[in-house]
Amino acid sequence: MKIQRLQRPDLPDWDHHENVTHIQDADSGLDAIIAVHHTRLGPSLGGCRFHAYPSFDAALTDVLRLSRGMTYKNAMANLALGGGKAVIIGDGRTIGGAAREKIMRAMGQAVQMMNGQYVIAEDMHTNETDMGIMHGVTPFVCGLPADQRKNVGGNPSPMTARGILRSIEIAVGGPLTGLKVAVQGTGSVGYVLCQLLHKAGAELWVSDMHRDATVRCRDDFGAVIVPVNDIYAAPVDIFSPCAMGAILNDETIPVLKAKMVIGAANNQLAAAHHADALAARGILYGPDYIVNAGGVIFVGCEYLGATDEAAVVAQVDHIGKTLCEVLNFANDNSITSAAAADELAQARFSAK
Ligand code: NAD
Repeated sequence: MKIQRLQRPDLPDWDHHENVTHIQDADSGLDAIIAVHHTRLGPSLGGCRFHAYPSFDAALTDVLRLSRGMTYKNAMANLALGGGKAVIIGDGRTIGGAAREKIMRAMGQAVQMMNGQYVIAEDMHTNETDMGIMHGVTPFVCGLPADQRKNVGGNPSPMTARGILRSIEIAVGGPLTGLKVAVQGTGSVGYVLCQLLHKAGAELWVSDMHRDATVRCRDDFGAVIVPVNDIYAAPVDIFSPCAMGAILNDETIPVLKAKMVIGAANNQLAAAHHADALAARGILYGPDYIVNAGGVIFVGCEYLGATDEAAVVAQVDHIGKTLCEVLNFANDNSITSAAAADELAQARFSAK
């Protein structure tokens, strides 16, 4: 296994990362990066993406941005954990069987070599089974299958969706009956969010690259299927991005009909100034790492050894109150909600 510690302070997203390591394993074909952003609050925890990036630099940029975001997310989620993230370069949707198992075992060894500085969990195109395989090689893993974990935990997506629901409830400040919500991406989080919103009486508009994913929401919840590029202009009260990052940008913000953006995707703002563009249009923005923290709270508590599931779920439900705190801080200081979240998070992880 070839391990190379990277030093790229020239990159705009480098941001004082504590450790960024490139791992290559010829035997399994593993090509991965582990980025540890900050460990002052505790070991860095963040999921692992298994994605066919167009280039190594694209993968590096993604992991750096995501690991930094985890420092902010974990701090605001009141977890004694720092921020980190990992990417495996490859098509995580199609690589399966013995080849996948080999990759996961090698990735587990790479995590083990970090000596507890980084704790891995699932993210895009990795799952509980993958974590279970890594657990055979390292203890620094969470989001495990039921037969491998002692306490609460497992698949984080339903808890992420729950945290989004709590955030929407707080932002709306009343019953959700008749509320119109557009959900972009009806995968693991988006589908459960649709389920919760439908139960609460909301009306749904959905889009996804994969038609099957939207058809399921139409059949199960009566959702209106919208072409991928038309979701931004859907006639709704809330736009909920649950697919990918950078979707709040110069092209999309002007066409939004929604008065609020609250969704699960990480790094939703293409650039920091897009928070101002949303505010200028009077659109309330629920900062992504505040509202989508339900999953990491769930697996973070699993890793930290929580035994009381009800207490963990209550911590997820607390996301609504955290969003309230952020919005009040923004209002009191005449800054955007994104700036308010950053300021509050920095105070938490720099204080210790
Ligand atoms: P997922 O891969 O299960 O689902 C994402 C869905 O988005 C897929 O169905 C995909 O086809 C669709 N999609 C991709 N590009 C699209 C586009 N341009 N338009 C519409 N749909 C598109 O992923 P997930 O676990 O549901 O996570 C969704 C987002 O939330 C990701 O950005 C992820 O990083 C973030 N997130 C997830 C969790 C979690 O617990 N799973 C936690 C925090 C943040």
